Amino acid sequence: MPPLVDSFGRLHHNLRISVTDRCNIRCFYCMPEDAKNFQPRSEILTFEEIERFVQVAARLGVDKLRITGGEPLLRKDLPVLIRKLAAIPGIRDLAMTTNGVLLAESAPALYEAGLRRINIHLDTLDRERYRQITRRDDLDRVLEGIERCLALGFHPVKINAVAVKNLVEPDLAPLARFGRQRGVEIRYIEFMPLDSQGLWDRDKVLLMDDILEVLRREIGPLDPIPDQDPRAPATEFRFRDGVGRVGFIASVSKPFCLNCNRIRLTADGHLRYCLFALEERNVKTLLRDGSSDEDIARLIQETVQAKWLGHEINTSRFVPPPRPMYAIGG
Ligand code: SF4
Repeated sequence: MPPLVDSFGRLHHNLRISVTDRCNIRCFYCMPEDAKNFQPRSEILTFEEIERFVQVAARLGVDKLRITGGEPLLRKDLPVLIRKLAAIPGIRDLAMTTNGVLLAESAPALYEAGLRRINIHLDTLDRERYRQITRRDDLDRVLEGIERCLALGFHPVKINAVAVKNLVEPDLAPLARFGRQRGVEIRYIEFMPLDSQGLWDRDKVLLMDDILEVLRREIGPLDPIPDQDPRAPATEFRFRDGVGRVGFIASVSKPFCLNCNRIRLTADGHLRYCLFALEERNVKTLLRDGSSDEDIARLIQETVQAKWLGHEINTSRFVPPPRPMYAIGG
């Protein structure tokens, strides 16, 4: 089967898999406090269905997987899925993104199942601001989860921090110091228009260059890391004193769509060629109606063939995707 190359010549080998649309925190820029209308259990792909989909995708060249949500640790027996995916021929990289609230107790089983790379979503080390952002009081549990992962040997451990302007400026340097002390990379993510309540506004985006300026002023000089993989979403820097590195996912100010290599499988079995896609294809039906692996492979190829050049956040044509972030997965 031919590799997954789109009409712009981009090779796709990176699959993000959302295993649930539910979450145990309520970040204001993602989910309303009273969120409901989650997918019923029957509409969520089973581990066996996800495994079969990945087996087909791996034969098309997919070799990198990231487990996401909602909050993936809400999915019961997640280590069972991790073990299945880690065993699929061709899969060489398996990672997960979590909010870390359930991580301390889950980390040993995840590690034992074969997971090694983990990103923890954490915007602040300040308890009050954590409560303000997530509408939960779980900062201590998240910090405990990070320490547990470091003790178990997860590597790399990264922190994803969404940078909302006029809110997290006091957290930027403390997070970087936290990372320098622990060998944890902090990834600052520009706020994207993916929230379900239409809160996003360009004035609320703390840009990569703004954050760099704060870190240089408050900590010290930073240098871009040479020879970075252009397909990786983050632009990475290291502190000149050799202690620690930070990354930036600057989707708004420095879009990286030209090198995009990602496709996304939603928890309810739809395949998306872009986080911001306005269309998607239903894989679940094929997984449940007796269709062949060839049929599924064809749908994956069609999805990649239909892929647009990139998001249109910086154009007047921009239309927010019909699904909010928690129903797509990071
Ligand atoms: S916005 Fe879409 S096309 Fe651009 S990098 Fe993200 S997923 Fe890829």
